[in-house]
Amino acid sequence: MALSGLDIFKMLPKTNCGDCSVPTCLAFAMKLAQGQAELSSCPHVSDEAKSALGAASAPPMRAVTVGVGGTAFTVGEETVLFRHEKTFVNPCAIGVQIQSGDSDEQIGASLADAAASSFERVQMALRCGFIAVQSTGDAARFASVASRAADATSLPLILMSSDPEHMAAALDAVGTKRPLIHAATESNIDAMIELAAKHSCPMAVRASGLDAVAVLTEKAIGAGLKDLVIDSAPQDAASALRDHVFARRAALNQKFAPLGFPTISFPGEVSDGDEMLETVFGALDVVKYGSIIVLSGAEPWRMLPLLVLRQNIFTDPQRPMQAESKIYEYGTPGPDSPFFVTTNFSLTYFIVSGEIESSKAGAYLGIVESEGLSVLTAWAAGKFVPERIAKFVAASGIADKIGHREIIIPGAVAQISGELAEELDGWNVVVGPYEASDIPAFLKRRAG
Ligand code: SF4
Repeated sequence: MALSGLDIFKMLPKTNCGDCSVPTCLAFAMKLAQGQAELSSCPHVSDEAKSALGAASAPPMRAVTVGVGGTAFTVGEETVLFRHEKTFVNPCAIGVQIQSGDSDEQIGASLADAAASSFERVQMALRCGFIAVQSTGDAARFASVASRAADATSLPLILMSSDPEHMAAALDAVGTKRPLIHAATESNIDAMIELAAKHSCPMAVRASGLDAVAVLTEKAIGAGLKDLVIDSAPQDAASALRDHVFARRAALNQKFAPLGFPTISFPGEVSDGDEMLETVFGALDVVKYGSIIVLSGAEPWRMLPLLVLRQNIFTDPQRPMQAESKIYEYGTPGPDSPFFVTTNFSLTYFIVSGEIESSKAGAYLGIVESEGLSVLTAWAAGKFVPERIAKFVAASGIADKIGHREIIIPGAVAQISGELAEELDGWNVVVGPYEASDIPAFLKRRAG
């Protein structure tokens, strides 16, 4: 039976020492109850509490990190089935597979594609997340291609071979970069467990169907491994979807520990060489519980839509997307250029920004921190009000960039113009268009 935060709190030391990186024992207990922390983070918990809390306090889905440093990614740690219930915690990783048996030129081109697969959307960087190197030559070649991939891209690696000798060679070359070992199977699991333990690397288990996967994860858990990833080797896209949903439900609803791990999927394995279909199946994985998604190519036409879909699925529905609060410049602005302000709701920012850009006029746009709310909502919530706007103007440095003292506010909040003029001593407050689409015409009138 699931324990409540208060049940757990009663068994903690109640010293609020903060050694668990959470300020109080109560806050730590609440995190434990929600599956967002591990009991082992509290070094002071008694043995008695440990055995009482045990599995009840373990997160239902393990967080697994692949790679080291700034490019490492973490998947798993999810606590809900649907993003409207709360939020998904760790975005799935999307990357590309290369074959060690390919020519040096082919490998070079694939690595260059992967490195170039980087886009900016809504002020966020979206990029290829890893390189999966599959051994299709001998062990030495596998190791050297893995090294080359690590050096050329600094992306996290997935090492793919069912041969422990090949895996050992590649791990000797790049094991310190914490690659994901793919995969332990029924026939090689003992050797793969040994390698994963020796190099402290996460390990995927691969078997046909979730029942067989659970047998392998139980064996790996019994051997002391914690960072596991599951692969049910589906034969078609329907089986992949079914297995992902079943595993997620088993982990979260039934707290079934052998399936409480992130998944890895290969949409190319179920699309008969059809790259478009592979991308569509990849989208299915993004939406339904694929944690690590391995594609056969990293061209922008397939990488970009999947990364954008991921961005939308893993956006926190309780936190609107926000633009950075600062002064943005358009064209070649000078001391006479107009100065607009609006809120930091991303959609507002992009629409206003697009209209100013299309006018081709030099201009400044001040984005006021307003908790990601749109103009009228922010005004009604007290987040886009004269006092806050005046504070932003004072701190932004805009007064050093322009010679005039004129600020253009959105027409939707014309009612604050008088009060803003009082807050901004010496400034003239101009009410701009109600609709952003009228900005180009407004600027034209102003210039003419
Ligand atoms: S480390 Fe343990 S005792 Fe200290 S605040 Fe956290 S839960 Fe409480």
